[in-house]
Amino acid sequence: MKPPSGPPRVSTLSKVRSVVAVASGKGGVGKSTAAVNLALALTSQQHRVGILDADLFGPSIPRLMNLSGRAEAEGDLLLPMVNYGVKCMSMGFLIDEEAPVVWRGLMVMKALQQLLHQVDWGELDTLIIDMPPGTGDTQLTVSQQARLKGAVIISTPQDVALADAKKGVAMFGKVNVPILGMIQNMSYFTCPCCSTKTHIFGTEGVRRLADNMGLPLLGEIPLNADVCELSDQGRPIVVARPESVEARAYMEIAEKLH
Ligand code: ADP
Repeated sequence: MKPPSGPPRVSTLSKVRSVVAVASGKGGVGKSTAAVNLALALTSQQHRVGILDADLFGPSIPRLMNLSGRAEAEGDLLLPMVNYGVKCMSMGFLIDEEAPVVWRGLMVMKALQQLLHQVDWGELDTLIIDMPPGTGDTQLTVSQQARLKGAVIISTPQDVALADAKKGVAMFGKVNVPILGMIQNMSYFTCPCCSTKTHIFGTEGVRRLADNMGLPLLGEIPLNADVCELSDQGRPIVVARPESVEARAYMEIAEKLH
């Protein structure tokens, strides 16, 4: 990927009505899965939607959105790739999928600038940014430069994930980005044989944390092997099984982001 020569004069984000970051403190809690399903839910609710994969070191949007190949460029602008009606941009479209990104900080920041400001989104109602996990440089740059309407924090209910989610909330607070609310993922598992609900990672952890911090709980997504299996096939549950409990939960959360 060719880094840009300097910061752009005009950001392509200026044509995006609202930019929402989907973030987590910890990796593996279902952030990218939520980002994709929320984007698809908003699309089905007649929004013009894009997803920016800001996880430069471990981009998952290409696989989750069943997109492959390289993004083309027109002049200084990168052209997003489109599937299921959602415009997507990811580091995964700019470098070899198999190649790890082993760049020094400056290269990373230049790439991030390009992804943030030089993607030809056209007019969008909502751009969902799939944030990398944690609270480092990338997260700060996105928070400061993406004109965020706010951030949605996703966590599973166990203590180790909640502690990191709390740090994520604090980071956004430091840069004055409002938290739109929290999502509890992998809330419970419903046994397919007897329909018993088991709270594998604990009960109500995210709700308690949200209450303590005065934040709304936007919704909860059950733990369901279908979510994982369909994601791996590049068929997010909102499009593959729109009637499922999980898809309906994502749809309800998306409505709160309008
Ligand atoms: P993160 O972006 O936080 O690293 P991912 O979205 O990549 O997490 O999800 C991590 C793994 O958990 C993936 O294999 C994904 O399919 C799976 N997963 C996410 N949410 C659920 C869920 N509600 N039920 C079952 N599996 C899930």
